[in-house]
Amino acid sequence: MSEITRVGIVGDGQLGRMLAEANNAASLGLEITVLGTGSPDGPKSPAAQIPGVRQIYGESLYDEEALTRLVELNDVTTIEVEHVDAVTLYNLRNDGHNIQPSPESLFTIQNKYRQKKHLEDRGLPVARYTGFRGAVGLAHARAYLGQALMVKSATGAYDGRGNLLVPANMEWASVEEKFGKDNPNLYAEGLVSFQRELSVVGVRDMAGRIATYPVVQTIHQDNICHTVLAPAEIGSRAAREAEDLGRATIEAFDGAGVFAVEMFHDEDDRILINEVAPRVHNSGHWTIEGAETSQFENHLRAIAGLPLGSTQMVSGYDAAVMVNLLGTRTGELDGRIVTDMRVDGMLYPHWYGKTLRPARKVGHVTVLAANMPAAEDMAEVALEELEDLL
Ligand code: ATP
Ligand code: MG
Repeated sequence: MSEITRVGIVGDGQLGRMLAEANNAASLGLEITVLGTGSPDGPKSPAAQIPGVRQIYGESLYDEEALTRLVELNDVTTIEVEHVDAVTLYNLRNDGHNIQPSPESLFTIQNKYRQKKHLEDRGLPVARYTGFRGAVGLAHARAYLGQALMVKSATGAYDGRGNLLVPANMEWASVEEKFGKDNPNLYAEGLVSFQRELSVVGVRDMAGRIATYPVVQTIHQDNICHTVLAPAEIGSRAAREAEDLGRATIEAFDGAGVFAVEMFHDEDDRILINEVAPRVHNSGHWTIEGAETSQFENHLRAIAGLPLGSTQMVSGYDAAVMVNLLGTRTGELDGRIVTDMRVDGMLYPHWYGKTLRPARKVGHVTVLAANMPAAEDMAEVALEELEDLL
């Protein structure tokens, strides 16, 4: 294979930013160009603020001309968001361009209903679900899945914005109010009573080998990922089961790079897949400091045809806690940066170079400590200090 030095990334948000930071931190020497939807006159995107990153612009991430330009500029093109024009990427790949992960995987995953079907067809465990339309459809879905259910938009959703918990007494009108009249894109999932949510982040290299990071627990608030505990405090049997399921799930898709598998550990001790992300993921941010090689560096290594680095936790610490920093108002961050270091552990704040908006992820903080209670205590103290900024 010819040497890969130029990497294109569709999307220019915080995930692209952390990929670019990993390229610089690990001196991988890749030249990164990101495709975003802003304008050259506007503020620099989170990814373009990183030294060395080149930025190009499109009307949207479905802009065929812009995607083509990005792909033609680079030796390999990857994504930091799955809501992109997978068909254009498919055509470009068939013309001989290197696109990772595969456009087919993007196409399957970017529609949550299609993704569920894909997993179910391969015998992988998912919550019960059904497509439906309108008030009558909702009644049928309730008869099948239970009176209370989760209604989701199959496309375009992120950070829980396409989800609505529909309790038994909720009328169709309230569902319609959130998703719009006659929305053809809805489906319903049975409500899973889970003990906890888990995530397995794994990375596949060009030769098809998959390495996984330790299983983590994710804690969501209002459907948004809030806290990640690494490693998940579950027994070794459950951890092995989650890891095996994560690996089997990644094998159901193709292409090089990081995939994340979000899971439910339910009250009957079963592990079900919630959804798959074909990219670096919020549940892997802790790996920047907490693992020997971060998910970002390993993603770049994978797509550049380099050997993967170790996915083990760094030695000296047994626990990491990552907390997302969400805006609570509209405005600018005042720029103070907390770089406090404690005696028995360490605190690492990350800011994404974004303006504040309510519920917008503008940064995260990772704490490493000797054990989980210590890490959780420190994360709480850190959050209290940082909350004033948000
Ligand atoms: P994100 O971008 O944070 O992954 P998303 O928009 O893709 O969010 P989902 O992963 O589908 O949304 O759901 C977000 C959260 O909502 C889940 O992590 C879980 O806490 C809750 N949730 C989703 N589906 C179900 C379900 N079927 N039963 C119970 N809880 C659910
Ligand atoms: Mg999710």
